[in-house]
Amino acid sequence: MRLFDTHAHIGLINEDPIEQLIIVKEAQQEGVRGILSICNNLHDFFEVYENLRTASNVYFSIGVSPSEVTNPGRDWESKIEQGVELDRVVAIGEIGLDYYRKFGDKDSQIELFIRQLELADRLGYPVVIHNREAGQDVIEILEEKLPERGGVLHCYSEDWAYAQNALDLNLYISFAGNVTYRNARNLHETARNMPLEQMLVETESPFMVPSAHRGKRNKPSYLADTVQFIAELRDEPVEEVSETLYQNSLRLFGIKET
Ligand SMILES: [Zn+2]
Repeated sequence: MRLFDTHAHIGLINEDPIEQLIIVKEAQQEGVRGILSICNNLHDFFEVYENLRTASNVYFSIGVSPSEVTNPGRDWESKIEQGVELDRVVAIGEIGLDYYRKFGDKDSQIELFIRQLELADRLGYPVVIHNREAGQDVIEILEEKLPERGGVLHCYSEDWAYAQNALDLNLYISFAGNVTYRNARNLHETARNMPLEQMLVETESPFMVPSAHRGKRNKPSYLADTVQFIAELRDEPVEEVSETLYQNSLRLFGIKET
């Protein structure tokens, strides 16, 4: 079974460089042939990149998340331009809107989001999109500004009606470990109904641990539990589901066979 974890905050799972290498190695032994490493800020990106750039199953996304809106860092745009030139950097993100934690104000979040969507389009990269309690604004902005290479709504948290709008924009929808929670009915309905060709999976580690590992810190090696759950929900063979999700990940991020 080949798996691709499209969203892991390796720098948040563990700060120690040796431990980070162990985490990605352990995931590889569990069939996780690809991990997209997500940074929270640009400092974090360059640190984790330096440590993991030679790990054969790790790819990288670079961007300024809405949590950094009041302090994106000096020259952040040119740093992203430099970052995407590096080997194995395949996406811009996570970027988006977070109205739950009220980072800065809405207008400055929206401005930062749009500037990075335009940057991704200009540089030719897909985007990893964060949405927390900002669904309406996110979809309206994407209707106008989704880059040519497309993107993924990560850690999906909306309902099936919303998903249909996103699917119409050719967005991918990525499920994290919270899809395995018993009361997550909106997520179950979406995961059951949507075309598998537009689905991705992720751990969003260290958060969103699948219910089988509840109480622990999430890590990429737990991804198989989420894939197993989705396969059962759809009543499809897990081998086929995992392979399709794996191929979807390669396609969106423009990665050749790993
Ligand atoms: Zn994240």
